[in-house]
Amino acid sequence: MVTAPTPLDNRTPPLPVKEIVYGWGRHPRLAAEVHLPRDLEALRAAVQGHGGATIPRGAGRSYGDAAVAERVICGKSLTHLLAFDSDTGRLHAQGGVTLDEVIRFALPRGWFLPVTPGTKFPTLAGCLAADVHGKNHHRVGSLSAFVEHLELVLADGDLVVCSRKQHPELFWATLGGMGLTGVIYAVRLQLQPVRSAFLHNVSIRTSDLSESCRVLCDTQHEYPYSVAWIDTLRRRGRGRGQVMLGTHAEDDRLQPLHRPPRLTAPTLPLNVVLRPGLSLFNMINYRRQLRRRTTTTVHYDPYFYPLDAIDNWNRLYGPRGFLQFQFAVPFAGGEALMAAVLDRTDAAAPCALAVLKTFGDHPTGPLGFPLPGFTLALDFPRTTAIEAAVRDATDDVIAAGGRVYLAKDSVITRDQFDAMYPRLDEFRRLRQQVDPQSRFRSLQSDRLGLS
Ligand SMILES: Cc1cc2nc3c(=O)[nH]c(=O)nc-3n(C[C@H](O)[C@H](O)[C@H](O)COP(=O)(O)OP(=O)(O)OC[C@H]3O[C@@H](n4cnc5c(N)ncnc54)[C@H](O)[C@@H]3O)c2cc1C
Repeated sequence: MVTAPTPLDNRTPPLPVKEIVYGWGRHPRLAAEVHLPRDLEALRAAVQGHGGATIPRGAGRSYGDAAVAERVICGKSLTHLLAFDSDTGRLHAQGGVTLDEVIRFALPRGWFLPVTPGTKFPTLAGCLAADVHGKNHHRVGSLSAFVEHLELVLADGDLVVCSRKQHPELFWATLGGMGLTGVIYAVRLQLQPVRSAFLHNVSIRTSDLSESCRVLCDTQHEYPYSVAWIDTLRRRGRGRGQVMLGTHAEDDRLQPLHRPPRLTAPTLPLNVVLRPGLSLFNMINYRRQLRRRTTTTVHYDPYFYPLDAIDNWNRLYGPRGFLQFQFAVPFAGGEALMAAVLDRTDAAAPCALAVLKTFGDHPTGPLGFPLPGFTLALDFPRTTAIEAAVRDATDDVIAAGGRVYLAKDSVITRDQFDAMYPRLDEFRRLRQQVDPQSRFRSLQSDRLGLS
């Protein structure tokens, strides 16, 4: 058993600070009292302290209002790696450790995150609270599949350890529970063994949405990672793009680790993400792959985290920010539904980035997002028209048996939410037991009637 170094960030202020908080989409914004506890006792005190609606917060990489409330308990200063067993890959870490920090510690020792979202900057706790999925959901499920136990501070300040055997209902409700069951103080997580910092990537060019869906489905069982970038702005050949299929290399090159972002987007007075520029970018991106099928070896950083290359890229959308609409729909009828959603949203705003993946059939908690089928994530500059179009498109998603991802949402209504998450009663019952006074609340949970 190796005990890992325990970095302490001495610059973080121990007293609460007043800050404007918002999600990655930069909307909505709220003046909040932000607590930054540095240890378990300070965390328990912050939870028990007086104040209004309180929500745990990690790195603020969820897009909407899930981590926004008038009182925020930010886990970013709980950054200790507590223990690591380099034989088994079992990591015990505080919730504020970022994915980047896990990789930088574990990869040179031959271990990697078992599931990772498309950015390395979120905290472990934030990823657990959203039960994030990666490009390998079809194969292994979400991050929850690798959690051995959680250490959770409840609304009354008690610390509870929960797992599949100990308080299983609390365990499952917390994974995907968007911070509404308590504050995740620490986690014991199983990492996956790897022999390289690189991946082999097969990229297959597709000519429309139908082919993108077909290639994703046909290759699901062959590759651990799969994802498609698609161009949604074209009338003819809408949904054409590249399906990228990855496997970890085995060349024993566990270095180098990533470099910090080289570019930083400035704060801008207006949105510069506009249709003509996006159409040009999409065309160049599509055409730069000359052959239908190419194979390359790619470092894990550009492979998993291409957007991290530009720091604060969300500022490019200007002061109104942007929104991401991510939904999951069953395979049956999924392609037609996605085409209808693209028609509806394209009339309201240009989609800046569209990412298509498949989900497998894996256990989730009551607020779990994935279901076996397709998932499509669409980024738009925020306007009133696109908010309305997304709400209308959400009705289409519900009618098709799908649902919207809470970590990305900032616009759906309570009725829509009730219609798409079938195990809501289970979650509400559990919450009533562990937080009867609704201490934990966010703008999102208020909007969706969860608090
Ligand atoms: C570029 C980009 C790509 C992304 N790609 C993916 C992807 O591929 N797959 C995917 O699933 N997600 C993806 N995401 C979303 C992101 O991974 C999740 O929103 C994640 O929850 C962010 O973690 P965070 O630390 O920033 O948490 P925050 O955004 O700060 O909080 C998210 C939720 O976690 C709760 N929370 C935070 N800390 C705690 C705690 N200590 N205890 C209890 N609850 C807590 C909050 O209350 C909130 O409900 C992406 C985001 C970005 C910006």
